[in-house]
Amino acid sequence: MFEIYNSADFEKAYTYTGSDLGTTWSPEQTFFRLWAPTADSVVIRLYKSGNPDAADLMETISMTRDIQGTWTAAKTGDLNGVYYTYLVNVDGQEVEACDPYARTTGINGHRAMILNHRTTDPEGWDQDKDPNFDKAITDSVIYELHVRDLSMNEYSGIQNKGKFLGLAETGTTTPDGHSTGLDYIKNLGVTHIHLLPVYDYGFTDESLALPQYNWGYDPVNFNTPEGSFSTDPYHGEVRVAEMKQMVKTLHDNGLSVVMDVVYNHVYDGPEFCFNKIVPGYFSRINAEGVWSNGSVCGNDTASERNMVRKYLVDSVCYWADEYHIDGFRFDLVGLIDVQTMNEITTEVHKKHPNVIFYGEGWDMPTELTKADVALAIQPNSVKMPAFSFFNDTIRDLLRGKIQDHTAPGYINGVPTSKEILNACFMGMPTWAAEPYQCINYVSCHDNHTLFDRIALTAPNNSEEDRIRMNRLAAAFSILSQGIPFFHAGEEMLRTKPDGNGGFDENSYRSPDEVNAIRWDNLSKPEHSKTIEYYRGLIAFRKAHKALRNQLRKDVFHSVQMIPFRNQHAVLYRVQDEAQDLFLIFNASSESVSVELPAGTWDLMIHDDLAGTSVLAQKTGSVEVAPISTTVLTCTK
Ligand code: CA
Repeated sequence: MFEIYNSADFEKAYTYTGSDLGTTWSPEQTFFRLWAPTADSVVIRLYKSGNPDAADLMETISMTRDIQGTWTAAKTGDLNGVYYTYLVNVDGQEVEACDPYARTTGINGHRAMILNHRTTDPEGWDQDKDPNFDKAITDSVIYELHVRDLSMNEYSGIQNKGKFLGLAETGTTTPDGHSTGLDYIKNLGVTHIHLLPVYDYGFTDESLALPQYNWGYDPVNFNTPEGSFSTDPYHGEVRVAEMKQMVKTLHDNGLSVVMDVVYNHVYDGPEFCFNKIVPGYFSRINAEGVWSNGSVCGNDTASERNMVRKYLVDSVCYWADEYHIDGFRFDLVGLIDVQTMNEITTEVHKKHPNVIFYGEGWDMPTELTKADVALAIQPNSVKMPAFSFFNDTIRDLLRGKIQDHTAPGYINGVPTSKEILNACFMGMPTWAAEPYQCINYVSCHDNHTLFDRIALTAPNNSEEDRIRMNRLAAAFSILSQGIPFFHAGEEMLRTKPDGNGGFDENSYRSPDEVNAIRWDNLSKPEHSKTIEYYRGLIAFRKAHKALRNQLRKDVFHSVQMIPFRNQHAVLYRVQDEAQDLFLIFNASSESVSVELPAGTWDLMIHDDLAGTSVLAQKTGSVEVAPISTTVLTCTK
């Protein structure tokens, strides 16, 4: 039966292009439009509450068949705060489903709620904008964070633990006075906070006093904030208002907000509301009824179908418009087609040219429902000029191949191809069309934290050496051409012990004790010193435009690799009109002596120090400490 969706006739007859799917609220009436081309009848059920267990049906309203497979109805009166579902009859089967376009829901996402959005706007919302709206994507420094990780630790000093509002608290400290939370992140100098999923996801029971921890890669309602992050998941308007308050406060503190969006699969394929209303349309299901599973989550989204594509475009535009989101990170974007991704970036950029887009362009097997569909994988970067990709080349090169937990990398002293190091430093791994399409990283929520990985790959090194390796990885990735990105806590030697003497490499449902940022570590000298080092690297990058080129032609113009005899040390000279930088990355366990070009050079990054103030002046040569980075500048 899924075959009919693949025909051009079906697409032609049933592609709706209007902008009013879902509900349109006004004080006088609410208008409903649902796309359900295969339905024989549709009825709206209005409920008093958002609790699926409450027998509080208020009214049912029959919908009327309208154009291009849509059904419509209007109800007079002010329906703000009224909950609803659709009762859809397809082939004699009656199903009750949430609205795929639900703007918010009651508890656990079962019933949609009609919303007057303006009641959820924080004060000054109409003036709110991206604090980095005028910057280029290569000016971004991205910090990847789970809402809950920031606040759950007992030393966070944050009141709203595990909530959106926890990110909106300023002035919080540890018991001994170190800044935590938002203030801490602001002080680091990062420009973008990238939040792990904050749309409504399925695993976590929102009704629990302490909901289970989960990363949230299990979408239920794509256009609704997750209830467990709100202080009242029962009342749909609260999660909306609190998420906006969080965005507003982050903007007020100079931080842009990126959302992690997971459109490539859903929590439960057959139970996903879109698939209940139009059976199987949202997912890739072949003629034998087998669900494509490139996502390894049991279902892949059929983004190549017109009304799925429209749904994705509408959803991303909605978050940018309504929540003022400044960037989107696409989970497994390699399962989504190039045309859909380009329509998303184009549509969002019409109103919000500041918004940044990036994702995981891995090549994964998926069974498409149409022929000749290009997928959004790394090698297609040339076809997706407004999209950047996670740079696993630099990640694996620096910390070791991801598949093998104990495989060492460049930072551990493994002899490494200078050609590939060079390509990464220049933002030109083989798959990238342009440097601005490289999201450079050595840690994210997936796999071991950087410091745990180093423990596994350098078991015989001292802790001091391991910290040096951490700093070297950070310096190389933060100073490379492209966009630096790191997992929250990498800068404080974050570790996720598994309780059995090992490390948790996939903490998606591990308890807060494993996942929460350990704010008590701020009192430890090695941790605070490493944080200072990261802060210095970020400040240095921001102060030197030549590190932030967007295009290949500009990188070729400014970056030059200097030959050097030691296979563990790589040298670069980076220049623009105003500045001349000399960078030395030394992964060897011995110090190396490097001859400097003519002139007097200011030492800015050296051994365990990094920043924008001059540490010393050098002429002739410089001694670079073991497993460390040295950077000098010379003003033209
Ligand atoms: Ca949820």
